Amino acid sequence: MTATDKENEELRRRLAKQAAEVAANELILKRAQKREMRLLEADSLAALFDYLTRGLCDSFGIPESTVLLCDPEHEVRHLLTSLHSLHAVPGVLLVDRLSAFPEVLRQLSHAWLGPFDNDRHRGLFPSDSGLASVAILPLMRERKLMGSLNLGSGDPQRFTDQHATDILEHLGVIASFALENSVNRARLRLSGLTDALTDWHNRRYLEVRLTEEVARAQRSGQWLSCLMIDIDHFKQVNDTHGHLAGDEILREVARRIASQVRGSDVAARFGGEEFVVLLPDTEERLARNLAERVRRVVRATPIRADEETALTVTVSLGVAAIRPKRLSEPADQGRALIEAADAAMYRAKKTGRDRVLAAETVPILNEID
Ligand code: GH3
Ligand code: MG
Ligand code: MG
Repeated sequence: MTATDKENEELRRRLAKQAAEVAANELILKRAQKREMRLLEADSLAALFDYLTRGLCDSFGIPESTVLLCDPEHEVRHLLTSLHSLHAVPGVLLVDRLSAFPEVLRQLSHAWLGPFDNDRHRGLFPSDSGLASVAILPLMRERKLMGSLNLGSGDPQRFTDQHATDILEHLGVIASFALENSVNRARLRLSGLTDALTDWHNRRYLEVRLTEEVARAQRSGQWLSCLMIDIDHFKQVNDTHGHLAGDEILREVARRIASQVRGSDVAARFGGEEFVVLLPDTEERLARNLAERVRRVVRATPIRADEETALTVTVSLGVAAIRPKRLSEPADQGRALIEAADAAMYRAKKTGRDRVLAAETVPILNEID
């Protein structure tokens, strides 16, 4: 082989190596872009959290990915509960403040990669999956740290300070953006489902949840009960004391009902002075007891309507319960449940008000039973 041949061969070898490196880098970039697209495409807060946790585990091939988020006013928690009926999402850690977390987080301004340290990182990785190295990416909003995206690997070489961090830094920036965007959209969505006067959910929200709760009861074979609550002679309150006084009464009645209702129950302002409470996993007898407690707590003490006026207010309540069968459409059964509670409430009005009456039948159910 001549000297020139040797040189050529060496050149070819180097070129092949570079081409392989370029191809590998391209693959890494493509994967990174795909991840970022998935984050930006998430169409709800729950979907985004799911991708940030389970999705990133799959994409990176790592055992744990978590999101730590400062949620001092419990807004994110409220959005998840209200819009998605989720009380917790595995891998999403919502905390009141970040100061309780170690320095590694409090001073985070760039991605941090390095060995897993039990004392410093345990709080970020609750599932204890034998981690050896971690990447902690800051989540920022308006240059303020709002939390972190935490990737954990069992391989000590997976995340080290020798790695170029731009791709991970970028992922953190996109995740911050996607998160803020999703929270804003969830806020908007919820505002269309919330009643401004009482801060309760509105009828539109109830209709969606009703169908969901019927379907859930179909699967579990449990009872689903419903209270229909209507303020007695409310028109007189408005006519005598004015609408502002009426509004005060409405708000306080809503508060008194809420004081008797569990977090897992679904309470909504159904119409002007009508409220509905759905009680999952609750049979009629218990629902009637709750209705009776609501009736008493509303009339127990007069409600202040304005400076001069405090009024004793009463409500009439109708109670209905179903154990929905799988055969029929959840939306139809939901409607039948509400109608039955409404009819019972109407009878309570007819027979003197300030009382609880139970539905005689919920027709759609008895057909199938
Ligand atoms: P009943 O005991 O039969 O239920 O009598 P009622 O007067 O409570 O029932 P009716 O349906 O005749 O009147 C309900 C009133 O509630 C009429 C409406 O002006 C008033 N209302 C509805 N929404 C609001 C609201 O947001 N604020 C106020 N102040 N009044 C409201
Ligand atoms: Mg009414
Ligand atoms: Mg009324």
